[in-house]
Amino acid sequence: AIRPVLGHRESMWFGWSGGTTAGGDGGDVSVSDFGPRRMVALDLPRREASLYYNVFSNRTLWPLLHNYPDRVDVRGESYSAYRRVNRRFAESLSPHLRPHDTLWVHDFHLFPLAAALRELGWPGKIGFFLHVPFPSVDTFSILPWARELLEDLLVYDLVGLQTRSHARNLMHTLIEEFRGAQIGDAFVYGSKRCRVGVYPVGTDPDTFRRLGAAPRQTKAVAGLRRLFPDQKLVLGVDRLDYTKGVPERLATFERLLERRPSIRGKISMVQISVPSRERVPEYASEKRRTDEIVGRINGRFSRDQWIPVNFLYRSFSQRELAGFYNEADVCLVTPFRDGMNLVAKEYVASRDDRPGVLVLSKFCGSAETMTDALIVNPYDIKGTADAIHRGIAMGHRERARRWTPLLDEVRTNTAAAWADSFLSDLADS
Ligand code: UDP
Repeated sequence: AIRPVLGHRESMWFGWSGGTTAGGDGGDVSVSDFGPRRMVALDLPRREASLYYNVFSNRTLWPLLHNYPDRVDVRGESYSAYRRVNRRFAESLSPHLRPHDTLWVHDFHLFPLAAALRELGWPGKIGFFLHVPFPSVDTFSILPWARELLEDLLVYDLVGLQTRSHARNLMHTLIEEFRGAQIGDAFVYGSKRCRVGVYPVGTDPDTFRRLGAAPRQTKAVAGLRRLFPDQKLVLGVDRLDYTKGVPERLATFERLLERRPSIRGKISMVQISVPSRERVPEYASEKRRTDEIVGRINGRFSRDQWIPVNFLYRSFSQRELAGFYNEADVCLVTPFRDGMNLVAKEYVASRDDRPGVLVLSKFCGSAETMTDALIVNPYDIKGTADAIHRGIAMGHRERARRWTPLLDEVRTNTAAAWADSFLSDLADS
């Protein structure tokens, strides 16, 4: 999303290298120049990196922000590591910053970064964008360090969220915690003032339209099409993450096959699951659950050469994905909670004026603007199975009627528009 925005501007990308060092000291900082773009990457001490990334980011903040209070791991040592790492980032970053630079900080791994930079005396503008949802005050306040993290957010000149509902949750949480006030789009508390804005992230529709026009067929799709040229294809594409609800999506597909025997042999599901956070136990168990249910469905229903579920546990290039999007009669985007979900937008952009059917969870940020999709509640297995059935049976006229506003949305709320509006509001803050 950000690469096209940077264009030929002079810019620097800073982050964790992903590498670790064995001792307790911070590791090397590597600097690489790619034309006008500089990349600065920092190694982290191994244990600190694990507490920071695997535990506090992925087992505390991720489930908290996605509204899974039962999964939130509350450990003082991982919180300390999270603050320490943010401090390290600030110390390594500040020598590269000039006073008139603008800094754009991305996502929940970096709540305290602005506060750490201010302590070091850097005066420039700092904006923060949260790519994931912000939950209700009842959920956020279960974190023992909720107030400290909110104080960290107040240091930013602008805080951006994906949807109006996430922004409302954040504003309400700030008001409850500090007893400050909302004035226009800003939260004001004592001498502090922080703007909160809504910036729905998008895709680069021109790239996906191009990829969709000349897609790369993968063996999996080409094979399915050869065997079953008239078969309806239902597609899911996600990182393997429990918030995406993949086992439940498969159970929904199973319900459909159970209840409607006439469609057996005439419909197949392709589920792409990209390996993710495999060192975090919840992700390993999600993989096991998914494998089990795929095995059960295929064991129950396969016949002749027809296999109902094709489960592809790997990642594909976006050109290959465009091939899948092109072949899919129905795209299933059914997370239990998702900041935005770009797959929904890429499906529409890749097919351009060839209408498909998007079945979209009401708990995705994209459902706030893609209202002409078939909106479902993924907790309601029967309702979602009915929507899939409606999708595969939908005639061209209804598909086209729903498609036009979806395509408009994808062409309007692009990645470029998202970045331009955030950066221009930050400049005005
Ligand atoms: N993606 C990819 N290869 C794959 C599967 C997904 O490049 O095999 C990309 C996809 O094109 C999309 C992103 O991964 O841009 C997933 O973004 P999304 O917002 O849907 O979910 P997230 O993973 O950020 O929760």
